[in-house]
Amino acid sequence: MSIAAQTSADAARKIFESVYGGAPTGIWAAPGRVNVIGEHTDYNEGFVLPMGIDRYTAVAAAPRLDGVLRLISSGGSTGVVEIPLAAIEPGAQQDWTAYPAGVAWALSGAGALAPGFTGADLAYSSSVPVGSGLSSSAALECATGLALTGLAGQPISPAELARLTQLAENRYAGVPCGPLDQLSSAFAAADAVLHIDTRSFDIAIHPFALAESGLALLVMNTKVQHSHGESGYAERRATCEAAARTMEVSALRDLTSADLERAAAKLDEVSLRRVRHVVTENERVSRFVSLLQLGPLEGPRLNSAGELLTSSHTSLRDDYEVSCEELDVVVDAALRGGAHGARMTGGGFGGCAIALVSADRLDRVAETVSDALPGAELFTVAADRGAFQVY
Ligand code: ADP
Ligand code: MG
Repeated sequence: MSIAAQTSADAARKIFESVYGGAPTGIWAAPGRVNVIGEHTDYNEGFVLPMGIDRYTAVAAAPRLDGVLRLISSGGSTGVVEIPLAAIEPGAQQDWTAYPAGVAWALSGAGALAPGFTGADLAYSSSVPVGSGLSSSAALECATGLALTGLAGQPISPAELARLTQLAENRYAGVPCGPLDQLSSAFAAADAVLHIDTRSFDIAIHPFALAESGLALLVMNTKVQHSHGESGYAERRATCEAAARTMEVSALRDLTSADLERAAAKLDEVSLRRVRHVVTENERVSRFVSLLQLGPLEGPRLNSAGELLTSSHTSLRDDYEVSCEELDVVVDAALRGGAHGARMTGGGFGGCAIALVSADRLDRVAETVSDALPGAELFTVAADRGAFQVY
């Protein structure tokens, strides 16, 4: 049992009992995620290597009979919100409730809720930092998806949960994210990373028990979010799609380093750099996985893994241009403090970076990072299990 999930579940139960009265029928939880390596590759049908983290969004839930969803979240911008099921359609909600309402919309559209599903009371509590690139949105969606299908008595596979919650985020909340976040939250496993092929959706699980190897993964939340992030993301996606067309492949995933010379002849300078990031990042994921397959990260393997993380950051900073000053500051400081490797994680333009650190250097690294960016929030994460019913 994940203690982190239990803590969020207990908090959600308290909110449920104080707001709605009575006990919930069940409590479900889904984790945030850290993408260890493989950034901005998921919408290019490439490879990613995320893990679920020991930070969860939990939802305590009970059925209703009057066709209404009631929602409250300790992390939400509202009090209790009532949404009639009949009023659920894209665009109807503009605040945080668009995420859970979108999940109800996607599930019922796919026939994943029993025809007799007649509403629910939902109370959320979360320890996933919101809006920091650790995927609080996917945690919220996956917890909701499990709760609603659980109440409806209709089991759902992790693959369907990921597919329908991504649909909810894309089409209902209007966020054009790739499949990485929802797959991570749905499929995560304790002490493991997921090697995901985002074209075939094949997932291989590799051991990633850092503490056993004397390692820690430090999250450095810059707590900044630059406003050009949203347009920057859409722009990068459009550039990648156009470059794939020019290169006559269905997605950039189909290119390798050997194609870069040919790409240089066909693409403008900026597009070439974007393509180079995606191509080299996919190759870094493969190399990182090869290292994990050789055994626990130690000695030269640990150094190589660290170098891959740091070169991922350099590529995101210089070729993909989605880093920012604060992310560069914490990454550089972590490396100066003795981290084996460090990189921004998530979409960029703010949010979080990660550093792979020997446990006995953790204090030193944290101190160096805090000195460099005093506003940064620092915490370690362990790889924890994916969405599940807690009680
Ligand atoms: P990230 O997923 O990286 O945390 P997003 O911008 O994708 O950032 O999602 C953040 C949004 O998700 C918040 O603005 C809010 O609308 C919603 N959200 C996430 N977690 C919660 C929560 N526990 N309670 C209420 N809303 C949440
Ligand atoms: Mg998100």
